Amino acid sequence: LMQIYRPLNFIGFVYRELRQGLTDIEEMFKLLDRDPEITDKPGAGQLEITGPVIRFEDVHFHYDPDRPILRGVSFEVPAGKTVAIVGPTGAGKSTISRLLFRFYDVVGGRITIDGQDLRDVTQESLRSAIGMVPQDTVLFNDTIGYNIEYGRPGASEEGIKQAAAMAQVGTFIEALPRGYDTPVGERGLKLSGGEKQRVAIARTILKSPSILILDEATSALDTKTERDIQQALDVVSRNRTTVVIAHRLSTVVNADEILVLREGQVAERGSHFHLLAQDGLYAQMWNRQREASEAAERLAQTQDDP
Ligand code: ATP
Repeated sequence: LMQIYRPLNFIGFVYRELRQGLTDIEEMFKLLDRDPEITDKPGAGQLEITGPVIRFEDVHFHYDPDRPILRGVSFEVPAGKTVAIVGPTGAGKSTISRLLFRFYDVVGGRITIDGQDLRDVTQESLRSAIGMVPQDTVLFNDTIGYNIEYGRPGASEEGIKQAAAMAQVGTFIEALPRGYDTPVGERGLKLSGGEKQRVAIARTILKSPSILILDEATSALDTKTERDIQQALDVVSRNRTTVVIAHRLSTVVNADEILVLREGQVAERGSHFHLLAQDGLYAQMWNRQREASEAAERLAQTQDDP
């Protein structure tokens, strides 16, 4: 029986290893969520960055020709500044981040970084200039240290620890019995959404890109987690050209400019106080969120003192 069992066991082992490999590849593709037809054009040059200044010029986009998603979106993110994009669900906010990473090409208008059309530069040079903290961070089935190091393969242990500390996740990791060697992902420690996002922020701090895209998670976070993440984001976006896709308005208060996207168009734009004074869509969203968070806090208080 052992003669049959051993090879079967071995096949099981190979299968698990293969599956593991596939999971990572599948996760990479999910992470990339991209159009496979996007390729470098012949003779595409390297993206040359000096600022970097990002410009969307009358950008039109659809996934499906029958359903326009962006209808003439124009804005500029000056070098080192932060632009936040807010708006109702389905308005096309995350689509903007996907276009900037060139997962898809625009169908009208253009997107430039320091004057270079994204379609004219190599994808490799574009993606190495951009750090993306996605909504749902996919962690590799590997150690938490590896997951951070992925931002800059070969980074020193000191560098990894520093990035984790700046991302407000260092103390959490160091309290784990196996510290940075703790396996995470499907087969390891399950991290909460907020913890995963901070691991992604640490990864991005290590990568140190000149452009940053933050796609905030929609999920509600408790006040402390929200504050920790906010602190981590402040560190990573300092002096970097940053686009924040914001779901929680608390993140956008300090943005240099806020764009309110509605049905694929910029409906309002300006600073937080400017937009509140306008008393339009942004002001409505702000008041609604404030009421919701006050109600949640009241509920938490009644649960704390019965
Ligand atoms: P949310 O706040 O809910 O994250 P959003 O403003 O970020 O929304 P997008 O993710 O940009 O919205 O999506 C805009 C629209 O495009 C949605 O109606 C969505 O269903 C559609 N969409 C998104 N991705 C795809 C895709 N890969 N193929 C087809 N349609 C898509």
